[in-house]
Amino acid sequence: MTAFPRFVLIAAALSVASCQPEPTGTAITNVTVIDAVNGVRENQAVVFDGDEITSVGPTSAELSVAETIDGTGKYLIPGLWDFHVHLTYDDRFTESMPALFLSYGITSVRDTGGLMHKVLPVVEKMRAPGVAAPRVFYAGPLLDGNFVVYDGESRPEIGVRNATPDDARKTIRQLHEQGVDFIKIYEMVSPAVFDAMVETAQELGLPIDSHVPLSLRASTAGPSVDSIEHLRNIEMDCASNAPELHETRLELLRNPQGLSGADLRSSLHSLQRLPAIANYDEARCDRTLETLMSTIQVPTLRLSALNLAPPYEKGDWQDALSRLPADAREDWTVSAAAMAENPNEEFTAFAEWSLFLTGRMHERGVPIGAGTDTPILISVPGYSLHSELEMLVRAGLSPLEAIRSATVRPAEFFSLADEMGTVDVGKRADLVLLDANPLEDIANTRQIAAVVSRGKLLTQNDLSVLVSAAHSGERGVQ
Ligand SMILES: [Zn+2]
Repeated sequence: MTAFPRFVLIAAALSVASCQPEPTGTAITNVTVIDAVNGVRENQAVVFDGDEITSVGPTSAELSVAETIDGTGKYLIPGLWDFHVHLTYDDRFTESMPALFLSYGITSVRDTGGLMHKVLPVVEKMRAPGVAAPRVFYAGPLLDGNFVVYDGESRPEIGVRNATPDDARKTIRQLHEQGVDFIKIYEMVSPAVFDAMVETAQELGLPIDSHVPLSLRASTAGPSVDSIEHLRNIEMDCASNAPELHETRLELLRNPQGLSGADLRSSLHSLQRLPAIANYDEARCDRTLETLMSTIQVPTLRLSALNLAPPYEKGDWQDALSRLPADAREDWTVSAAAMAENPNEEFTAFAEWSLFLTGRMHERGVPIGAGTDTPILISVPGYSLHSELEMLVRAGLSPLEAIRSATVRPAEFFSLADEMGTVDVGKRADLVLLDANPLEDIANTRQIAAVVSRGKLLTQNDLSVLVSAAHSGERGVQ
């Protein structure tokens, strides 16, 4: 009788030992963690398990994890966003963009315009379980007005027509049913269509991205939307003669010459942009900025101020080009040479204005987001986000504030600040491990040692395999 209980005890002990779960998760130890909310934390151990950060604290010996990476001398920042991309603008890039983004530490992207039948399959592929791709948030098409800029004639077809408020309501309801994450309002909408779009999106809980429509002033349209791209048309509301400029615009928007949407818009920009900048009125502009305190500005300086820091003059441009599909690489080599030979003076004036206004906005407390418009105008997917961060610092943001613009701000736009944007327990596992301190020089965000995307650790080698696999039309690391 005495042996039986002992046997049970031993069996119980054995079963406890054999049921002890294998340790899981990955720890990055001895690392300096940097994010825009917590600042700098030295000698940390960051553990992630699946797609969640499960522990952040001083490095100690007691970690029980499956894998440990020594982060001595390295810096860990949250995964970066490119807050303005077009996955389907140029078919040559669509297949390789997700891998290129990851290879440059971009773990989330916001697609700000593409037709649904093209964007949806790409999004589905990127969101499939196990696929190595950034998180993707998409708007569907540019919601334009009676005239459409991107109509497939002189420009790629990524816009749709909304001639009346009813059209606008119907379009947005349909997009919502199809699953878009936000909407993008474009430049040719009338005030009535704009109002219907804002109202419908708010009803459906969709965040709103926008250009300032030419029929409206920044101080009127800005407060109704959650983000504005390219500082577009804000110069007109910063001019001493803003009311007259606006009157002229309303007159010309009737389109007496019967121009195409693209030509009508260009003619207005050419007519009014530089004169408006020349009439800059600080007090009026500050009043306009006062209305934009809750609207994230995405200045896309790498695009608007390209003349001030051309990518083809950078030391790593050839390396960036070498990662592109061959036909695009050749094409862009030719375009870059042509741009270098013929710098456009008008464009330089606008570049300086864009840089100035971004700095001014930041100084006054307007939130700034980091986006590139890739692949438009020789913007290498992923690579160009780092150029954008450099430009934001040049405009007056500190390196930490530049990091905020590519991490916390995008998360705020989607009301995801509880899930993304910092290195904290409970957040998604999107991280970038750097070999050098980005606060000393923002260009150090290019010094990528490894990337964690949706809980998957990708070494430099994994990332190269992904990029080459994308070129041959396959998926790499699964
Ligand atoms: Zn765009």
